[in-house]
Amino acid sequence: MSGVSASRAPVRAGILVTGTEVLTGIITDRNGPWLSERLLELGVDTAMIQIVGDRPEDLMGALRFMADAGMAVIVTSGGLGPTADDLTAEIVGEFAGRELVLDAALEEQIAEIIRPMMSRWPGLDPDAIRASNRKQAVVPVGATVLDPVGTAPGLVVPPASGSGPTVVVLPGPPRELHEMWEKAISTEAFRAAIAGAVDYRRGIMRLYGIPESEIANTLRAASEAGVPLDGLEITTCLRRGEIEVATRYEAPAESDYASFVEFLSERHREQLFSPDGATVDEQIASLLVRSGRTVAVAESCTGGLMSARLTERGGSSEFFLGGAVVYSNEAKVSLAGVDAGLIDRFGAVSEEVAEALASGAAERFGTDFGIGITGIAGPDGGSDEKPVGTVCFSVSSRDGARLTRRVLLPGSRSDIRDRSTTVAMHLLRRVLLADGVAAVSSEAGTGERG
Ligand code: ATP
Ligand code: MG
Repeated sequence: MSGVSASRAPVRAGILVTGTEVLTGIITDRNGPWLSERLLELGVDTAMIQIVGDRPEDLMGALRFMADAGMAVIVTSGGLGPTADDLTAEIVGEFAGRELVLDAALEEQIAEIIRPMMSRWPGLDPDAIRASNRKQAVVPVGATVLDPVGTAPGLVVPPASGSGPTVVVLPGPPRELHEMWEKAISTEAFRAAIAGAVDYRRGIMRLYGIPESEIANTLRAASEAGVPLDGLEITTCLRRGEIEVATRYEAPAESDYASFVEFLSERHREQLFSPDGATVDEQIASLLVRSGRTVAVAESCTGGLMSARLTERGGSSEFFLGGAVVYSNEAKVSLAGVDAGLIDRFGAVSEEVAEALASGAAERFGTDFGIGITGIAGPDGGSDEKPVGTVCFSVSSRDGARLTRRVLLPGSRSDIRDRSTTVAMHLLRRVLLADGVAAVSSEAGTGERG
């Protein structure tokens, strides 16, 4: 597949997410982005994601719109269940020009799946169950049926006329959709629909500590320096206080991408913390596990988010021993061992108290490293001297290394709390990398803003 010219028309896909509960925002769509990512891995370009309520005319309208826009593939999520508002299979059949028929073997298969549930709920009306079970076994003629993951089968439905998109019909619950996706992509009907997809590669780099606008300058500079960027489709986005540079390219542009990575590494030596896409969370976990070191947290304004972030990944018990949410001054004193006099003198939000929290956490939990966070997340509680968004951080190591920062973070209360965990992760990363180097680097008051 490699060696294709970049001018070849890409295979494009539309994703149709159904469900009134997703449309109204009661449930946040998790299937659209997930499918888009999977399609990309297969070299298929997702052109659009549409969210549509459970109304037949809107479902049909969205399918026709995507067909008119030239999609080779449409993937739908949801509306495969047994109830009356679950219409997707029926509408897709009509759209593809395929009659719907009862698949007797499939009906029996679904009945088998439902049988244990029926014995668990003896009050259920068996006739109603049978009727809805039959509904799920009515499928478009000529469609490839995907074995149910829950109770509903999925479908791959090619157009009856030979032209138009092939529709992959998947269930709504994300876990079921993920499992059925694997079945869908191995079918012949799907393979045929995406024949000619380009062999895309993707690279991700992550930077911390520079504004997004600087990346635009970097791209200009790279181009002026003769780095070949034409074959690279570069997108940058600001995410949780970091900049993510994602690049898509075709196999022949591999060495162009390598030059781009090299250029960025040189220009942003300090800020490019991940040339290979690894997250700071992954890096910290691996640094701690490899060195057999441990960490603990005493946090105030983040209310437990830091401990939550450090324990998000499986296996975190190897390095995370514990955390304390020390919201009140009394808790800072009694749980993290902060000297009450420091709070009186410098205030609860101060570098001094952050340092005491970090040392206190390490001492109380008996860890190699301690993290202290104290700040003003707002919306109230700010002052001229310490406006909302002021957060003090400290990371200390048992052998005396320490990094302390006072930062002014922008955004809402929830932005400030979330961004705080990112700042702390990066401080911890730097202390871990410097670990073994005896130097004590206190950078208090450098006033990193942004
Ligand atoms: P069921 O047989 O459970 O009814 P279904 O295929 O008919 O499955 P829906 O009725 O559309 O799917 O959705 C069922 C549930 O799956 C939703 O209530 C929701 O919890 C979850 N779900 C559906 N779509 C999404 C989505 N796009 N993102 C996240 N969760 C979703
Ligand atoms: Mg449903």
